[in-house]
Amino acid sequence: MKNLRKYRGCLVGGAAGDALGYEVEFMRRRNIILKFGPEGITDYVLRNGKALFSDDTQMTLFTAAGLLHTSVPEEYPDAIRDAYLDWYLTQTDDPHKEFHTDLLNVPELFCRRAPGLTCMSALQNGGKGSMEHPFNHSKGCGGVMRTAPIGLVPGLDEKQTVLLGCQAAAFTHGHELGWMPAGMFSEMIRLIAQENYDIRGAGYTALHTVRMMFPDAEHLPDFARIIEQALELAESTEMPEKAVMRLGEGWVGEEALAIAVYCAAKFEDDFDMCIRTAVNHNGDSDSTGAIAGNLLGAKLGLSGIPEKYQKNLELYDLLITIADQLYQKG
Ligand SMILES: [Mg+2]
Repeated sequence: MKNLRKYRGCLVGGAAGDALGYEVEFMRRRNIILKFGPEGITDYVLRNGKALFSDDTQMTLFTAAGLLHTSVPEEYPDAIRDAYLDWYLTQTDDPHKEFHTDLLNVPELFCRRAPGLTCMSALQNGGKGSMEHPFNHSKGCGGVMRTAPIGLVPGLDEKQTVLLGCQAAAFTHGHELGWMPAGMFSEMIRLIAQENYDIRGAGYTALHTVRMMFPDAEHLPDFARIIEQALELAESTEMPEKAVMRLGEGWVGEEALAIAVYCAAKFEDDFDMCIRTAVNHNGDSDSTGAIAGNLLGAKLGLSGIPEKYQKNLELYDLLITIADQLYQKG
C-alpha cells in the first residue's frame, strides 16, 4: 500500500543527503575532518540562507517531471529522456529553448551544480543510448543517482520498474554497471515506498529480480557481489567508516548504490547517521548521500527526517509538490 509520507520522505531525503554531501563532494575524508571536526560534516552549510542540492536532485526532479508528463506507461521512457534534455538546457546558455516539462518554470533549476560530464555529453547528443545500443562505456553513478522517482510510479510491477530504471540510466550511461544499479535502485524504492519493505528486504528482493532479468549480463556477478557485501557489512560489527571504504568511493554506479544501501541498512532508524555516514568519506559524497537519503527517506517517511534537514533546504515546497503529484498518479 503506497503511503504519501514515504513519497515525500523519499524526495526530501534524497535532496537532504545530496545537499549535505555537495559541500564535501570533492574532499578526502581527512580534509573533511580537518575542516568540520572529528564527526565530519553534520549539518548544512547555507548559501544565502539555503542548503543547495546538486545535479543529482536536479536530475531526480526531471525524472519525476518526465513521468508526470504522460499517463501512458509505454511513453515513460521517451518522456524521461525528453525531461533529461530539458535538464540539459538548464545547464547551457542556449537561447533557443524548447521545453517539454513544467520544471522549466522554476528559475532556481537553471544553474550548474557540478553536472556530470557523461550526462552532459550524452544529452548534448540527444540522449539516445540504450541497453542494447550503448552510447558510451560509462559506468559513472550519474545513471543511478537520478532514478528514485521511477519507484514511486504506481501501477508498475517489479520487472517493469527495473526495466524502466535501467532504460532511464542507459540514455547516458552505456556500461552494464552504469544502468543495472539504476534498475535495482528504482525497484528498491518501489518495494519500500509502495510495499512497505525494510531496506534489507528490499535490497535482497530487488537484487533477485535483477538476477532473473539479466542472467547473462557479463557484470552481473560483480554487481551481485558488491550489493551482497554491503548488506552483509550492515549486519556486521565493522566500523562504518571502514565498511564504506571497503565498498569503494561511489564514483561508479555499483559502488554508489552499495555504499547507500549499506548506510541505509546500517542506520535504518536514524536518518541523521545514515546520511552523515554516506557523505563523510573520500568519494562521491553528494551522490551516495542522495541515494541513501532517497532509500531511508522512503523507509522512515517525511517525519523521520530531522527538522534540521528539512529547514532551509532549497526548493523544499517543489520537492513536496512533485512527491504528491507522483502519489496522485494512480
Ligand atoms: Mg552531484
